Amino acid sequence: MPQPIGLPTFLSGPLPDRAAILADLDGCLIAGERVLPGVPELFVRCRDRLWIVSNNSSDTAQTLSRRLAGLGLELPAERIVLAGEQTLRMIRRRHPGARVALFAAAPIRALAREIGLVEDREHPELVFLGRDPDFDFSDLTALFAHVARRVPVWLSNPDPFHPGPDGLPRPETGAIWAAVRAALPDAVAASLGKPAADLAAIALAKAGVAPEQAVFIGDTPETDGGAAAAAGVDFVLLERPARARAEEEIAAC
Ligand SMILES: [Mg+2]
Repeated sequence: MPQPIGLPTFLSGPLPDRAAILADLDGCLIAGERVLPGVPELFVRCRDRLWIVSNNSSDTAQTLSRRLAGLGLELPAERIVLAGEQTLRMIRRRHPGARVALFAAAPIRALAREIGLVEDREHPELVFLGRDPDFDFSDLTALFAHVARRVPVWLSNPDPFHPGPDGLPRPETGAIWAAVRAALPDAVAASLGKPAADLAAIALAKAGVAPEQAVFIGDTPETDGGAAAAAGVDFVLLERPARARAEEEIAAC
């Protein structure tokens, strides 16, 4: 496994000059609403060669672009590739007008309507499971029922957590799916999210850049490193300053 490096070390070398810089979001560029050290310099250095490739499933590229602008980071939606949005667009391509049980945040549900998918929690043809901060026990009960009836499930990403602004873990869709699997161990779900190659491949295709001309930076070897390897892109593992600081604070208690 590669040793993690800080963003300043990455920026001091030649890799930021690659034709496309594919960057993870949480724990790499931001933690919650906090911009991580070195990130403004990354945006200045890489400019229109910088892409976000993230397992985020509660934003669309549009809503994330606006949220980042509010943090002083300018990146157009066209260069943001997110697991939740891309999964919905894939469902639309394969099953136009499908009835989908959406376990998802408001921006994702609005996008589903916009692209012609029909939200149906009673008799869906497919289930989409994304990160919904309002997900509750009744949602879990409904999800269990669909899975038990063998309705195909698309999982936006398999991540059990992402780092919060305090460096501590926040539950992700993989944790909800693990709850399903605890009760229904034979349950299966498909996913385009990292560590699959799909999101990186979408970014490379949009950029018109070959894998060997790009570099992928991220803080999670299993997902970011896995996706980079699957897509044939060199990978740089970044340190997690937020988590390191939180662990130091816990250790000091
Ligand atoms: Mg990350």
